[in-house]
Amino acid sequence: KATEEKFEFQTEVSRLMKLIINSLYKTREIFLRELISNASDAIDKIRFLALTDPNALKATPNLNITILADKENRRLVITDSGVGMTKKQLKENLGTIAKSGTSEFLDAIDKKNADMNLIGQFGVGFYSVFLVADKVTVTSKHNDEDKQYVWVSQAVNDFSISEDPRGNTLGRGTQIVLHIKEDASEFLEEKTLNELIKKYSEFINFPIYLWSTKEEEIEIDSEDASKSKQWSLMNDQKPIWVRDPKEVTDKEYEEFYASFTKDAGGKPLTWIHFKAEGEVDFRSIIYIPSKAPQDLFKKAEDFVRNIKLFVKRVFITDEFVDFIPKYLQFIRAIVDADDLPLNVSRETLQQHKTLVLIKKRIIKKILDMISTLTQDEEKYTTFIKEYGTSLKLGAIEDDRNRKKVAKLLRFPSSYKPGNLTSLDEYISRMKKGQTKIYVMTGGSIEEIKQSPFLERLQARGYEVLYLAEPIDEMLIQHMPGYDGKTFQNVAKGDLKFGDETDESKEEFEKTKLEFVRLQDWMQATLIEFVEKVEISKRLTSSPCAIVAQEWGWTGNMEKIMSSQTF
Ligand code: ADP
Ligand code: MG
Repeated sequence: KATEEKFEFQTEVSRLMKLIINSLYKTREIFLRELISNASDAIDKIRFLALTDPNALKATPNLNITILADKENRRLVITDSGVGMTKKQLKENLGTIAKSGTSEFLDAIDKKNADMNLIGQFGVGFYSVFLVADKVTVTSKHNDEDKQYVWVSQAVNDFSISEDPRGNTLGRGTQIVLHIKEDASEFLEEKTLNELIKKYSEFINFPIYLWSTKEEEIEIDSEDASKSKQWSLMNDQKPIWVRDPKEVTDKEYEEFYASFTKDAGGKPLTWIHFKAEGEVDFRSIIYIPSKAPQDLFKKAEDFVRNIKLFVKRVFITDEFVDFIPKYLQFIRAIVDADDLPLNVSRETLQQHKTLVLIKKRIIKKILDMISTLTQDEEKYTTFIKEYGTSLKLGAIEDDRNRKKVAKLLRFPSSYKPGNLTSLDEYISRMKKGQTKIYVMTGGSIEEIKQSPFLERLQARGYEVLYLAEPIDEMLIQHMPGYDGKTFQNVAKGDLKFGDETDESKEEFEKTKLEFVRLQDWMQATLIEFVEKVEISKRLTSSPCAIVAQEWGWTGNMEKIMSSQTF
């Protein structure tokens, strides 16, 4: 007791705990998922350290997680031989919130429009223990410190940390003892625990044992039966990506996705599982989530954590900055390489030639995957809705793959309102003599449709692509054409069609003469506002339109630049 120190929880943590304690959240079992996931992360960390430090595992060579229910004392005990926490880490990791975005999560929970199930995504999964416990003790021993420490909280505003009077019982690692609430007794039942642990440990790469009654044995003496408990292994730790893709079911891929992305309940739109051999050997599963994250383009400097890198099944890192080009950052992947140097910093690792090769292969795979997805109309429509902007960014930024990416783009068009078209399809419908891909930019499809610029083209039966996204203006600047056909913004410059006859040209010359005085008058009147006034064949029913110069900004671009939406 002499060493006990009291600390206040950070305000946000207190707030979170109050929400958790008072929540009527039905699926309280997720606390077990969070604790198992933390234990697994901790073992990942010590195993990583052990790659370069042979002494790291000395104190406790076995890497595992054990779970024991002590019904009599209403205690649930979860122990791991992971990296452990120093006194300082206990205070910081279990008392403050490091991750940004937690406040938003709390606000959403408060307003009942967020699911507690997502807690793990916000870096506060640990606190879910208070869904089922009224008192929690965390005992931890870290290699860097001689002493073992105990963290205790009763879910009020403060917690305490003291030296463990029992000595270093753990060797190395962390033990979490939950004092189970009266109304949560089910979490002390062997059957419940057995089911839950199996569910949440399926994709954990370390053995998880439950202290439980032997399954097959039939005991005659019931007294004895209650005593015949043993550590039973709950999971098969062969990682899914090491298995033969033919033997993995869709359901398993989906569950694995939910577990490693912490996207509880979220589903992948598609995935690919492959083994690369040759220049570089690795296994990988790449997923495309069915929903894009809200902050897809915002996290410029932050780690995206969309790729988990393993080397021969040992987790190395998910801290990459721009490893995958920004426009493909929405993917989630596991990469397990056979050969990488591990005694270099993570920054250096990212530049390593093996990783550079892996990156190239992955980018190719992703583009192939998207290309395959185009064959599934429904899925591809979802894909475009979620990631269409990403692809356009790709066509702008990825010089090497521009052609490939351009093939994947889809645009609304005048051909079939409400439908999207590819550039190849557009070209296949081009009229005889048509040399350009006609596009019209604007703030929305509605706005574009009402534009007088479209009239003439439509009257002549030309198809026009509607470019209603802010990024579209940039797109056609960076990608001036496709398959040998240049884009022609119909709001710009001189519109020439290849199909005028001599007769119509003559007639037009006559019309021009007829209106020359009006033209002069307008030119003089509007001198301050326009470059020049011209008689043209651009319109059919509207009397006039303001047209941008071939090399100038369109009205839409002016709007975008002044509002800085992009
Ligand atoms: P997250 O796991 O997303 O970081 P948590 O709230 O689950 O968020 O855990 C907070 C932190 O507490 C972890 O990042 C880790 O540093 C530490 N921690 C939790 N459980 C353990 C454990 N069993 N062993 C070592 N450290 C742990
Ligand atoms: Mg966690």
